[in-house]
Amino acid sequence: MKQKNMRKVIIFILIAWFLVLASCNSDYSTPLNTDYTTETDISFQGDINDKRYTSFRLSDGCSFSQFVETYEGYYYLKNFYVYYCSDGISKYVKLCSKPDCRHSDNNCNAYTGANLIAYYDGYMYYVAIDQYDYCLFRMNMDGTNHVKIKSISTIQERCTGFFEHGYLYYYKGTIYGLLGNTNTVIYRTAVFDKSEGTIVVDTKDNGINVDDIFLFYPHDEYIYFYTFSPDTYYSVCRYSMETSKWSDYVNTEMFFQSVLTDADKVYWYLNGDGFYEYAYETGTIERVADTVGDGLYGVSYNDQYIYAYQYYEEKYSPIPPILYVFDRQYNLIDNVSVDIPMLNYFSPFYLTELDDYVLLSTSINDSAPDYYIKKSEFGSGNITVRKIGD
Ligand SMILES: [Zn+2]
Repeated sequence: MKQKNMRKVIIFILIAWFLVLASCNSDYSTPLNTDYTTETDISFQGDINDKRYTSFRLSDGCSFSQFVETYEGYYYLKNFYVYYCSDGISKYVKLCSKPDCRHSDNNCNAYTGANLIAYYDGYMYYVAIDQYDYCLFRMNMDGTNHVKIKSISTIQERCTGFFEHGYLYYYKGTIYGLLGNTNTVIYRTAVFDKSEGTIVVDTKDNGINVDDIFLFYPHDEYIYFYTFSPDTYYSVCRYSMETSKWSDYVNTEMFFQSVLTDADKVYWYLNGDGFYEYAYETGTIERVADTVGDGLYGVSYNDQYIYAYQYYEEKYSPIPPILYVFDRQYNLIDNVSVDIPMLNYFSPFYLTELDDYVLLSTSINDSAPDYYIKKSEFGSGNITVRKIGD
């Protein structure tokens, strides 16, 4: 019973802060600024459409489509403004170099009015309300030249969308089981032309009704769907855009924040219980490792490491939360006490993993990334939490 209650608490926390960020909830007062200054100078020699830049970032602690890695640097969306950092650990600044701009209204180049951004083919994209529609916009990598590409849906229809590999996948409604939805269809549209959206799948075909879509996201050939029941909590299933087949449901109990889905498996962590894996090939669930420890943890799965980051259970807890680092075989590599002055105790302090660093935040909603740790210190038993920009 205690475990169940703990799961309820963490589910509540996760939903509470994620709702604040719910996609496509744009600022309604947005005549978007457009100016026509010079195109971004591209000196990067690699592949600007490397999938690492265009993939759906499943393992971030912040909202989906809030943190973006590109060949030009790192972009972070906060309160409708885009922040930029060239190396990930310098101070994140508003993406605007207009002379005399105070960077505080919608004439600023960094302003989007959007709650999600994405990168594709040398441009940044976002969805914001313009007139009476949710519209797709593009801007240059330096924040200049905001251009409306096309309308996506009407304000009455609403819109929840996620980007991957140059496409916007969207739903004309809201997710998290909010009421008032009228349809069950997921659409897809290219960001790079003016073509209309096409239907990818109707979730009704797998018994998912209106208001039952708690979350969906695209990942490579699949679209994943989370549903919720008061008895079993969260379950995830997927639809293959290549074979048009649905998978079985996997009852993870936990929501996306402690779950990883990849082509072969579903991985998740149950607080007070342990780590679990489900294999699509065998259709079996296995408990693969013990609990991290007492307390509430979110878990981020990455290529080499798994991070379990503790949530504050009370606002003024005198004991700082812990970040545990595991390898992908669930061996504990290291841990660090994250003693930073949190501005928002209900959001995770873990933000994302880069090549060499793990970024932390005192408030994912109201601050750009402001702390980090070095991956080169993992295993030393002496990880230092450092301030970004120092
Ligand atoms: Zn500005």
